[in-house]
Amino acid sequence: MKTRAAILYDLNTSFKISDVDLQSPKENEVLVKMSAVGVCHSDWHLVTGDTAHTLPCVPGHEGCGEIVDLGSGCNGLKNGQKVILNWAPNCGDCFYCNHRRPSLCEAYTKYIWDGFLMDGTSRLSSGGETFYHYCALSCLSEYAVVPASSCVVIPNDIPSEIGALVGCAVTTGVGATLNTVNVSVGDAVAIFGAGGVGLSMIMGAAYAGASTIIAVDINEDKASISSTVGATDFMLYNDQIAEGIRSRTEGRGVDYAFEAIGIPTVQEMALDAVRPGGTLVLSGISPMGTKTNFLGAVLTRQEKTVKGSYYGTSETNRDFLKYIDLYQKGELPVEKMITRYYSLDEVNKAYQDLLDGKPGRGVIQL
Ligand SMILES: [Zn+2]
Ligand SMILES: [Zn+2]
Repeated sequence: MKTRAAILYDLNTSFKISDVDLQSPKENEVLVKMSAVGVCHSDWHLVTGDTAHTLPCVPGHEGCGEIVDLGSGCNGLKNGQKVILNWAPNCGDCFYCNHRRPSLCEAYTKYIWDGFLMDGTSRLSSGGETFYHYCALSCLSEYAVVPASSCVVIPNDIPSEIGALVGCAVTTGVGATLNTVNVSVGDAVAIFGAGGVGLSMIMGAAYAGASTIIAVDINEDKASISSTVGATDFMLYNDQIAEGIRSRTEGRGVDYAFEAIGIPTVQEMALDAVRPGGTLVLSGISPMGTKTNFLGAVLTRQEKTVKGSYYGTSETNRDFLKYIDLYQKGELPVEKMITRYYSLDEVNKAYQDLLDGKPGRGVIQL
């Protein structure tokens, strides 16, 4: 079949929209008719080369849609189900899967980062030329063939844009606060970067009962939406920000700082804002090859901890449903994160708005 998709042909070029050939799903794969895809910065890393990837590639990894066809062996899935897509499909049987760390599953890492599905081949092509998948999803497209293990079924009445955001930003951000560390009632936290992941960290910290939630960003326009989803303070990022954060936390610094951007100097500043004995959580993806300089003497003498958080240390089969449940109960106001909608044809405008720092998450509706 043909599907209309966003395509990245070369580094530092805009996405092109055109029809590509999409093969039918094979064993353990499903065809999903996409309905909503979030505009996440990770797709832009493909454009800049901060994430190296095979091209041409169809981006998109924060998606929700409906199953419309299945290959063999897709136990428990059927046509008509609404699914959130997990961008880190796992084997269920390796060391990491057996140690409840499925987002670290290494069984298919090479295939996926080479731009293939889990059997090491692509379903995408055009004019006989192979096109490559991204995260085994490539859901910035009307239709996507994805691994069955990427699909988490949710109730049909959940809005698709909510499902899409749970597929990446919410799980990454809320999971950092609840899984990677355990933010608790009364804690003070600072969140560096108030984009989709940072706003989700704010929601997670608020849900956990943190009493001080300081959102930090270079863009003052993000103050309002930060407080809407639960921040108690907003501070503009500057060279003195760690001192400023200490001054708002009785001179100590925060129990937890979260870095949601992936910039080494910001990571270093965030560590400075953590109190002795506190923890810095790194969730933003740094450009490949960059280095962060943490002062070893400070880590030792002040017993600070630095933790990486990938996909919110999630077990997606559990966490997607948990976050949807919390959304339904009004405990995670995911809908307040969404500030603008686009068509697939507007994908470049959507990314320009993200780069321009427009507050909140954009969603592409298909
Ligand atoms: Zn993402
Ligand atoms: Zn595994």
